[in-house]
Amino acid sequence: MEKCYNLALAIFLWLVSFACFAQTDTAQQVIPNRLNGTDQLTKPYVILISVDGFRYDYMEKYEARHLQQLASKGVEADALLPSFPSVTFPNHYSIVTGMYPAHHGLIGNTIYDPAKKSRYNMSNAKAVKDPSWYGGIPIWTLAEQQHLLSASFYWPGSEAPIAGLLPSYYYPYNEKIPIAQRIHAVVEWLSLPEEKRPHIINFYFPEVDHAGHRYGPDAPETAQAVHFVDSAVYALSLAVQKTGLPVNFVFVSDHGMTTINQDEPINLSPLLDTTKVDVAFNGTIVDVHVRDKKEIKAIYNVLKAGEEHYRAYLKKKVPSKYHYGKKDDRFKRIGDIVLIANAPYYFSIKRPNPGAHGYYVYDTPDMKATFLAWGPGFKEGAHIPAFENIHIYPLLAKMLGLHYEHHAIDGKMKVLEGVLKN
Ligand SMILES: [Zn+2]
Repeated sequence: MEKCYNLALAIFLWLVSFACFAQTDTAQQVIPNRLNGTDQLTKPYVILISVDGFRYDYMEKYEARHLQQLASKGVEADALLPSFPSVTFPNHYSIVTGMYPAHHGLIGNTIYDPAKKSRYNMSNAKAVKDPSWYGGIPIWTLAEQQHLLSASFYWPGSEAPIAGLLPSYYYPYNEKIPIAQRIHAVVEWLSLPEEKRPHIINFYFPEVDHAGHRYGPDAPETAQAVHFVDSAVYALSLAVQKTGLPVNFVFVSDHGMTTINQDEPINLSPLLDTTKVDVAFNGTIVDVHVRDKKEIKAIYNVLKAGEEHYRAYLKKKVPSKYHYGKKDDRFKRIGDIVLIANAPYYFSIKRPNPGAHGYYVYDTPDMKATFLAWGPGFKEGAHIPAFENIHIYPLLAKMLGLHYEHHAIDGKMKVLEGVLKN
């Protein structure tokens, strides 16, 4: 009997602990005592939406009718050009800092930092919350520094106290909260009293990227994910409209998606002696950090000889167009040797998924991403040429009336200022 009781108690405690875990895992985090400065109350509102992996042509290809209609009332770019490497974390962070990955430090979804002797990985909760990985001043941090409140429903970097500041309101990343609840949370933020109401809100969708990787960019599942996002953004825009506030929408993606060669993955295992190197793999790019610097040349020669579906570079010889060589390496996180895959080949020890990204956008146009913007601050019916994603930061700063150090970032205001109403 006692045994039975103990078992029941154990199960009960396990359930309670699970319930607590589940709750904290998905609960909103609120930083206490944050208020907008009195001079900030009249500022406009911006919702920055990212749809991961939403390729530049998906809106047309999959007839995303709501997005087409919203964009027709605002601004549409031919494409948004991701920074290299065209992977998720570096590009989301380039969008919000105005800097190339090697300049802001988040050079991959996976990074090895030889000075720290530690690794960053986008799925490692401890690493993503550690501000030492993130350089630059993200737009929400810039806002908070100037007493303009921010909120984040997911964005790479938003869970770390960068420059000592977290967004006033944010959710730790999880994929458990239904979209209706997520939209409701944004409306609640915009319904707060004006001194507590956030002016810059990040909102992130993972579904299109997931489908693109798993099934490929041309698959019906990817079309379905695009339609899901199309409906969700429309629902969000309708819900926000009801608040009557002057809310601007900036819709971006971090990169595109291409069909890769699944049958011949590039397996580097025979060429890399892991007792001599620390390696960071990012699918289309591999950073090789050589422990004994005297061995760099010998290891490079082996990798160079193995070139067939990739190119091997010494760090100082990486072509400058990538912004990924020695002179750009502000955080000393780029490998002594850099390997770059030739599309459609992909570094992997097992059969890779059919869809991938990470390639240089000027060589692989499928990497092109999307930029749309609409709302009271934007010109209507404006069509603009493709531009690099580092230029979004100055646009956001200008819309929100935030001061930033121009010399500290790569983006230029002149690229996008023409999309704003005077
Ligand atoms: Zn992505």
